[in-house]
Amino acid sequence: MRVHTLKRAVVALALALPGAAIATVVAAPTAHADACYTWNRNLYQGRSGSDVRELQLRLAGWAGNRDIVELDGRFGPKTAAALRRFQSAYGIKVDGIAGPQTFGKLYQIQDSDCTPQHFTWSEMDNGCGGSGWSGGPLTSSQTRQNALRTMWKLEALRKSLGEQPLIVTSGFRSRTCNIQVGGASDSQHLYGNAADLISRDRSLCQIARQARNHGFSGIIGPGVRGHNTHVHVDSRRENNQDRNANGTYWAAPDCGIPAG
Ligand code: ZN
Repeated sequence: MRVHTLKRAVVALALALPGAAIATVVAAPTAHADACYTWNRNLYQGRSGSDVRELQLRLAGWAGNRDIVELDGRFGPKTAAALRRFQSAYGIKVDGIAGPQTFGKLYQIQDSDCTPQHFTWSEMDNGCGGSGWSGGPLTSSQTRQNALRTMWKLEALRKSLGEQPLIVTSGFRSRTCNIQVGGASDSQHLYGNAADLISRDRSLCQIARQARNHGFSGIIGPGVRGHNTHVHVDSRRENNQDRNANGTYWAAPDCGIPAG
């Protein structure tokens, strides 16, 4: 724990002194520590706690077809199944136990600001030029948490699509922004729960079909008016704040995904 605290202090120092101290952070002995979050014990079925919840957040994209990983801090069969999918995807031992190998991989694919390697806070807060996560129905902190879960799902989707870049053309939107772009009045974008995606290397239908395996309870793509130039994915099923929204709705008729 002391090492962790020391590292945090070093990071704080680095932030206070841009440029000068960054080399110190990079050189710090970080084999078992991470600037975002560090796990201190192995996790497996039956364990519970905030460390399980931190794991569940990062496994949210490995939920399996038409399913989700609840962030309830309890390591049950669904968390174990998601972990096995993660381990298999990243080529580490598939045992359903989060230990040094799993944590090491997670440290490797997350940035010090806690976002996954290939997605950033700023691209998810780009609704109409960045609004600091405010102006929606939730607190900015809740919105930000939802956006982070969305990014971990996107990282999993990207991995399954063969590590090709996925571009977020619209993430969180404030109410003002949502009106400006003509979004639905109950849009999941308002909650930080949604992303509109394009790719140079994968077709929209490839994205829409693959998204079904990565915890997205909302998928709207080609064949739906307004969705022929991007795929919309969201986490409406986890949205406890919007009672009209929980459940699953997928529609991309041109990709063989009927509305329903
Ligand atoms: Zn959308």
